Amino acid sequence: MSVKDTICAIATGGMGGSGIGIIRVSGEDAISICDKVFKGKKRISEMETYTAAFGNIVNRRAGDQVVDEAIALVMKAPHSYTTEDTVELDCHGNAFLLQKVLELLIAEGARIAEPGEFTKRAYMGGRIDMSEAEAVMDVINAEGNAALSASMNQLRGGLKKKIISLREKILYDTAYIESALDDPENYSLEGFLERLDKNVDEVRSEIDILLNTCEDGRLIKEGIRTAIVGKPNVGKSSILNMILEEDRAIVTNIEGTTRDTLEEYVRLKGVLLKLIDTAGIRDTEDLVERIGVEKACENIEKADLVLFIADGARELDKNDEEIISHFADKTVITLINKEDLETVIDRERLEKLLAANGCVPRILTVSAAENTGREELSSLIKELFMKGEAVYNNQIIISNSRHKEALINADEALKRVKDSIAQMLPEDFYTIDLMAAYESLGLVIGETLEDDLADKIFAEFCMGK
Ligand code: GDP
Repeated sequence: MSVKDTICAIATGGMGGSGIGIIRVSGEDAISICDKVFKGKKRISEMETYTAAFGNIVNRRAGDQVVDEAIALVMKAPHSYTTEDTVELDCHGNAFLLQKVLELLIAEGARIAEPGEFTKRAYMGGRIDMSEAEAVMDVINAEGNAALSASMNQLRGGLKKKIISLREKILYDTAYIESALDDPENYSLEGFLERLDKNVDEVRSEIDILLNTCEDGRLIKEGIRTAIVGKPNVGKSSILNMILEEDRAIVTNIEGTTRDTLEEYVRLKGVLLKLIDTAGIRDTEDLVERIGVEKACENIEKADLVLFIADGARELDKNDEEIISHFADKTVITLINKEDLETVIDRERLEKLLAANGCVPRILTVSAAENTGREELSSLIKELFMKGEAVYNNQIIISNSRHKEALINADEALKRVKDSIAQMLPEDFYTIDLMAAYESLGLVIGETLEDDLADKIFAEFCMGK
């Protein structure tokens, strides 16, 4: 095969029912070939690199009959996966239509890529070295390997579909901006910013859910670091004992590095809690109040989950307030203890205090003395940390730190879009960050790869890579 010719393939795996199908075209004539197949507001040959445009896939041999709607994304040499001029056509994910588009491309002079050929070109173009290329081949040959197939399943499954749909949303907005700047008469930006702002929020909250699943990965393995905090005498030790009680048998005590650090594990409804530094907290009874509160704050810092114990039989005081002031960005469950006694605490004020300090007021009333509220607490913890059984059982979780980083980068780029919107910057400012988010998301599914060619994601590149 000549390195000069132009290759094309369906780059997305989901020939079944995925929302979009991406066709990748790479080579010297990628742009001129796609120009004949794609009709947008702008010709592909006139598009800047890393820009996207709306348009139709047309069959010029049949009087420009429209085959599909698509978004074209142009990446000019050398800044593309293959280092060659590359065009991505994001079409609908229908296998028949995608086949049709490939046929049109072939009719214009492209040919179907061999498996791995996009990667081979990256190597030929000097973008990856031989050892990396070999690593890629190892992965292709390691189909049976269990670990690998696990990651492939992950890529082929819900995660991939999700990422593709997020990328599509971003691309749509980018293309809209480009089109509007280009052709203001037909594409109005009136009210667009509000829409964009809303769309960006939506994508960010989806990213947030995905990021939460990577936390699940760690939490499943290591346990949720849980701190039980509260001023002295609210019943922390009693509640700890209540939590531990039923599961005494599976509680393990592990000697810590310092003499009085004790790590205790307990499983509530299948969720593993790692109670942090509880020995220290128990000691607070012997310490002056001030030190007790300081200790609480240290533990909050380290915790994934804070169980804040308030005394239902006493008024809130400055010690409670001080502890609550450290709750920003923490997952906190407040337990109003001693419900067997007369209630003195002002619950409404407690809620306001929690909310004012940046945490969602999740409040349960319990009694350690009468052993009530444990069930509700367990359910709430499960609900908070295990978002759905599927995540837990099938391990559809993002445990890969590179994926996590890509998601965080995408989120940050989208945050910049929001900042630009807030500052009412001109529209072309947004496309840079939108495309940065698009690219970062692509890294999760191996659609856009930068220089650090991670190997495993190539596992699924039977076609289109
Ligand atoms: P800590 O200092 O926060 O660890 O609090 P402790 O667990 O040592 O409890 C302080 C006091 O409150 C003890 O006398 C407990 O018996 C009592 N106490 C704890 N929980 C309850 C409860 O639910 N109801 C009642 N009536 N007393 C409780």
